[in-house]
Amino acid sequence: MVEMLRREGIHGWRWRRQLFAWEEELVEQCRILLANVHLQVNVSDKWSWNNTQGVSYSLKEAYYVLQKEFFASINTPLFQDLVWHPFVQAKVSLFMWRLFQDKLPTKENLFRRGIISVEDQQCLAGCGEVEIVSHLFFVCPLFGSVWYGVLNWFALFGVFHKDAINHANQFDGLFLCGRVTRQVINLIWFAVMWAIWKLRNEAIFRSHVLNANLIIEHVKLLAWRWIRLHVKEFCYGYNQWCSQPL
Ligand SMILES: [Zn+2]
Repeated sequence: MVEMLRREGIHGWRWRRQLFAWEEELVEQCRILLANVHLQVNVSDKWSWNNTQGVSYSLKEAYYVLQKEFFASINTPLFQDLVWHPFVQAKVSLFMWRLFQDKLPTKENLFRRGIISVEDQQCLAGCGEVEIVSHLFFVCPLFGSVWYGVLNWFALFGVFHKDAINHANQFDGLFLCGRVTRQVINLIWFAVMWAIWKLRNEAIFRSHVLNANLIIEHVKLLAWRWIRLHVKEFCYGYNQWCSQPL
């Protein structure tokens, strides 16, 4: 590897098959990372951690570095709360992390990776639009209407942004409440996103019937379960909580 890089540089790499567009992006990122690395034939390879002076590598340090890089352009603590909400499982945080980086396997992303054809990109709801993140979660007449159903549950009205971070901020801003309740509001935003994705997948892979009311019921049950598991003082039955959620 060292010899090859020294001789030909990264452009000399040969691949066993043609790269997908998203893999070419990774190669470019790798090229940038290696741009200032000077390899020496007679020096052995070793691992080093250069991000924190005087501190050895740990998962915690790596987490902070990734967090700093990812959130550098997003000055909102709410956003971090949404990705790393303490009430949800790791798989849901991972889903949110992928969503904010546009790495979810939406139909448009699958098309860009060469996995499905151009005509298969359309939204499952039959609205005729391409399934991208903003459409699927916020704009689609079927999936987007879930938000208004949830607002209706809280006897609120509003118009939402189609960008995920702005949408989350708007949703959060509709409620006037204290810190603990704010955490519950964030959780409900989370539950809507997860329910849309989960039921969309079940409709695709198990041919389940899909409608907005079904998703809203799923949101309520999911949020109730999450709150009941994590808030000791929460002692409401499901039906009681549905009729008075805040
Ligand atoms: Zn749609």
